[in-house]
Amino acid sequence: MILSFIGPSGCGKDTQVSLLSNVLQVENISSGELLRELYSNGDEDGIKAAKYWQKGEWVPDEIIMKIIRKRLELINPTSVAILNGFPRTVNQAVDYDELMNAELEISKVVFFELDDELAIQRLSNRRICPNCEKIYHLIYNPSKLGEKCEECKLDLIQRKDDQEKIILERLRFFNKTTAPILQYYKKKGRLIIIDASRDIETIHKNLIKELDIHAK
Ligand code: AMP
Repeated sequence: MILSFIGPSGCGKDTQVSLLSNVLQVENISSGELLRELYSNGDEDGIKAAKYWQKGEWVPDEIIMKIIRKRLELINPTSVAILNGFPRTVNQAVDYDELMNAELEISKVVFFELDDELAIQRLSNRRICPNCEKIYHLIYNPSKLGEKCEECKLDLIQRKDDQEKIILERLRFFNKTTAPILQYYKKKGRLIIIDASRDIETIHKNLIKELDIHAK
């Protein structure tokens, strides 16, 4: 089964993917993470794409479609694959539906709804361990070691695109391109909307209920 999780930056979808993995066998296919990985590996498309994401702009559809297709070739058929942060434009959604065979159909699209103000507050306080990539939040989920990772003891860093000016640009792109995607999936009867302003546990419970998931 393939699911898609979309929502503005800061909506907490990564946290929800990791909570779901306690209940289900989940494969997290994050387009943002794939882009960052390709960039650090010096991949040609990864370097081209970085010019966009480092400014908070959307990466061109053809690059995204290429990396998603490649990644789907490696998918484990027994797990639930979550396309995390994909699609972000109607073109991506339409191309996906046209290019992929029935087995790879996105069965449900979960939209994590959150207003801009809350998203900015969540993102500007997000910190990450440069080694294990554990995510902290200076207010809601601080490290017991201050600005160091509890596991690796390294200084936590802020993602380049989590600076306020870039967050605003990411949200501007998100708000511009999302409404048509929601319409697209609503018409197909595949859209689930989750209130992402709630606390993590409540969101998790609502997600399980809406997806009608039973423990592994
Ligand atoms: P994320 O880690 O999901 O916040 O993504 C980080 C950045 O990668 C975004 O701000 C975009 O610039 C880029 N990105 C990720 N997924 C996509 C996508 N499906 N389409 C276009 N750009 C994307």
